[in-house]
Amino acid sequence: MRANIFIVSLFMALLGCSPNTVENSGTDAKTNEFAIIIHGGAGTILKKNMTPEKEAEYKAKLEEAIKVGYDILENGGTSGDAVIKTIQVMEKSPLFNAGKGAVFTNAGTNELDASFMDGKTLNAGAIAGVKDVKSPIEAARMVMTDSEHVMLSGEGASTFAKEKGLEIVDPSYFFTERRFKSLERIRDREKTELDHDDKKAMFYDSDIKNSKYGTVGCVALDKDGNISAGTSTGGMTNKRWGRIGDAPIIGSGTYANNKTCGVSSTGWGEYFIRSQVAYDISAQMEYSNKSLKEATTDVIQNKLTKLGGTGGVVALDKNGNMSFEFNTAGMYRASMDDKGNLVVKIYKE
Ligand code: ASP
Repeated sequence: MRANIFIVSLFMALLGCSPNTVENSGTDAKTNEFAIIIHGGAGTILKKNMTPEKEAEYKAKLEEAIKVGYDILENGGTSGDAVIKTIQVMEKSPLFNAGKGAVFTNAGTNELDASFMDGKTLNAGAIAGVKDVKSPIEAARMVMTDSEHVMLSGEGASTFAKEKGLEIVDPSYFFTERRFKSLERIRDREKTELDHDDKKAMFYDSDIKNSKYGTVGCVALDKDGNISAGTSTGGMTNKRWGRIGDAPIIGSGTYANNKTCGVSSTGWGEYFIRSQVAYDISAQMEYSNKSLKEATTDVIQNKLTKLGGTGGVVALDKNGNMSFEFNTAGMYRASMDDKGNLVVKIYKE
């Protein structure tokens, strides 16, 4: 079988497969018995704006995070645990827009969203607009395992987390100077004479043209063939009116189905909601028999791009094929296959 995989890989390489995919085969043969793939946000991430130190810092954190999940999978643990523990490393890091380091709302607060899905049972959990739960991804999974609901929001979600014994922190825990400065920059620009459309553009501009999204996500396949996916974020800088993005929405920010694939998204959330990005990838595989690569390419490069949306996904199918797909300049990302091969990348190359 290994020889077959090798021949298929060689064939795909000769066909010139996209550099953004680590997918090896479109066949039903298992490429990897277990595997894990993560992102730390997509956006205008350009080498010229990065110092070598910053770049090394991001890469080291991505590597640290993915190895936590990889160890769980290698030792026969579940994809669910791998996803949660991996995301928690990134939630604790101020580098990413999730947990500590989350972006600020227009009111100067941090409001966190997260979701989790289990591909075996199609069960899911999510929280939105939460201000004091230390690990939003853990709370999201607990909504799935410990309540009869799928999504809880605001104070109710905090009360639920508290009752279930999850760690509650003072909102100042999420503060970082860097993210607060981003908010101040946007507020300053808001004071200038702008018409309505300019202001609308600027709300997104903060993250699209000058920055990056920074949301974190993970998809894993375990040795039992179960896929799990999770996404955690602070949303978009300067958001207001209780705005909720795609990250906590099952089918947009996160989706997992053992029959097809698991997906975690990052990008301009409004477009990901309208496009149902994560579910569309799974649906294209289920109903049109597309490979993971074909489905992710169509949804991100064709459909999302045509609508004007920006961002990307990490995805992994039931056979352990993996795909990074994005239409921005970069996406913090990493993958590990069952042989322990590690890929860590930031830019398009
Ligand atoms: N998708 C997130 C949102 O719109 C932002 C991100 O990916 O960083 O809330």
